[in-house]
Amino acid sequence: MFTSCENTGKCASSKSENPSDDATVSSSFGYWRVLLKKCSEWLVFIPSKSSFLPNSASRASSDKSHNYEFMKQSNYIFLCGGHLRTTRIVRPNFTSHGPKFSVLPFTILAVTFPMVLYLVFEAAWLWNHVSPAVVIVFCYCWCVLMNCLLRAALMDPGVLPKNDHLVDNVAKNGLPEEYHSWIQMPGPRMVHDATKTDAKKTPDLVSAPVYAKYCNSCFIWRPARASHCSRCNVCIANLDHHCPWLSNCVGQCNHCYFIGFLVFACIECSFLAASSFYIVAIKSANRARMSLFLGIFACLGLLYPLLLLISHLLLGFFGITTREYLNTERHSGNSHLKDLCLSPFNLGSPTTNFYHQWFRPRGASNFRVLSRRTLDDGRLDQVVIGGLDV
Ligand SMILES: [Zn+2]
Ligand SMILES: [Zn+2]
Repeated sequence: MFTSCENTGKCASSKSENPSDDATVSSSFGYWRVLLKKCSEWLVFIPSKSSFLPNSASRASSDKSHNYEFMKQSNYIFLCGGHLRTTRIVRPNFTSHGPKFSVLPFTILAVTFPMVLYLVFEAAWLWNHVSPAVVIVFCYCWCVLMNCLLRAALMDPGVLPKNDHLVDNVAKNGLPEEYHSWIQMPGPRMVHDATKTDAKKTPDLVSAPVYAKYCNSCFIWRPARASHCSRCNVCIANLDHHCPWLSNCVGQCNHCYFIGFLVFACIECSFLAASSFYIVAIKSANRARMSLFLGIFACLGLLYPLLLLISHLLLGFFGITTREYLNTERHSGNSHLKDLCLSPFNLGSPTTNFYHQWFRPRGASNFRVLSRRTLDDGRLDQVVIGGLDV
């Protein structure tokens, strides 16, 4: 099958003389190539932006794929068969040049690195000289911290589905003019009617209005408190902010995990600082240099999550999100504190606000990325009007 060069002793040609052998090798190679491609796509799937067309042509081309494979306008990268997600690597805010990168691996490293040093240099001494419970509690809190970090970073923050069932006329000619304005709706909070001059004597209550806007990127009317994130390029329900440290938005579905991450980051830093300085006090600084380093590292590491936690605590008392707070600051004519108190989402009681902001049920995902995508718009299939199915 193979020809060899007797003069040089090297194989001059290894080409098969039998075409059927070539076909077998080729088909075997093709099989492994397809398998490798499917495995790599399962591990990391990046939706292609170019093929998103919100009209009938793209709808006809869709097959039995999952919903996440059609999130072509988002900046998401899906991992592990769509179970996890993160945003594409981006350039940092403070520079318009330089490399693009994701901060999430750095955040995971910053949480893991002190844990490894603690286990190597401090855990055995604390286990034997103080109590095994100290080490066990520290490790348990670290596991909860990592769980909150990964859930906040990789799960659905509350993505609202894009409308890819636009009529062809809108897809071709653009939106009607009236879609480029806000609409006003009655809000959840009742306030005194400002048009009544004697509001104190006859307190007529009206509902403080909230506003909804049509998103020109997702082609949907956004619910109140939802907003479009330009980093992720999707609309998020109850968006708080886009967190660069998590490479994900913080919104309706993952806000509690973000708060849990901040709480346990503060607990872990305080725990590590206390145990490290205790060891330094017992052993002296010269004999426990790594503990001294860990103690200082923990004190510095405590500052950022603690400040964030305090700011979110205060925002929770007013019942507003970070985005609403930053937007309020831009308003003119009212003092800043008055703006916060007049927010239609401020329920009047700090404890009620705090409960609603931090402990309310996070709800299911609005858009199930792992479900099979349907070809047609099924939203009106089961609408009942006047008792008759249509
Ligand atoms: Zn949007
Ligand atoms: Zn985002």
